[in-house]
Amino acid sequence: MSMPLKSRLKRWANRRLRQPYYRAFSAKTIRSNLNRPIVSFTFDDYPQSAWTVAGRILNDHDVHGTYYTALGLMDQTSRIGKLYTRDDLLATHDDGHEIACHTYSHPNLRRTPVRNCVDDIEKNLAELRRLVPNGSLQNFSYPSGSISIGNKRALTPRFDTLRGVEDGINTGVIHLNLLRARRIYDADGSAETDRIWVDQNAARCGWLIFYTHDVCDEPSDVGCTPRRFETAVRAALESSAEVLTVAEAYQRLTGKS
Ligand SMILES: [Zn+2]
Repeated sequence: MSMPLKSRLKRWANRRLRQPYYRAFSAKTIRSNLNRPIVSFTFDDYPQSAWTVAGRILNDHDVHGTYYTALGLMDQTSRIGKLYTRDDLLATHDDGHEIACHTYSHPNLRRTPVRNCVDDIEKNLAELRRLVPNGSLQNFSYPSGSISIGNKRALTPRFDTLRGVEDGINTGVIHLNLLRARRIYDADGSAETDRIWVDQNAARCGWLIFYTHDVCDEPSDVGCTPRRFETAVRAALESSAEVLTVAEAYQRLTGKS
């Protein structure tokens, strides 16, 4: 399924015009001292297939992913298919994957006042802690990549990292509160594109964060097929990179492990 022109234009404007502005303010940066590249596989919104299909692919390769979870979406169905259940969440966590935060109700942060945004996130954290008491919940991704400077500033002390949707490899001076990422969408790019990103990441000794949503045979415009996903995992493992969750990568970057 190809992406409608309007969506493509909106995405272009966000990436090219808004993101550099958001990057400039309230930056929390760290200079990378990685001596080995890292690739992370992350999922936004947590469709059930991100666990039942992609999670098993990651398990088969003995690596883990990061699931940015909004508890207000649990048990729902949306354009990306059936979303996760409580059992999925617990099984994903039990298998060693990272459960991270993605707000509670998935608001557009650009249009949400800071107070409401913080309340929404606190609600998600409280619920997640209740369901997954020993989960780390130290990392966050902006819903649909939507950001405001006020929200970025308010969330920075609450999390180790905040991930956006701006294309790029995290290297050199890394913006921990606006991490760059690269989508794996069947509607955009190919397995070959993914491999080029992995190779560039290896050459630059960077941290490449892939993100997608549903992983199934007929994916939405923000998902991919199991074959595409597995090819990307293999490409990452065949490169010189370590495949780590966002929490593990943060520990590498900050020398905490
Ligand atoms: Zn989302």
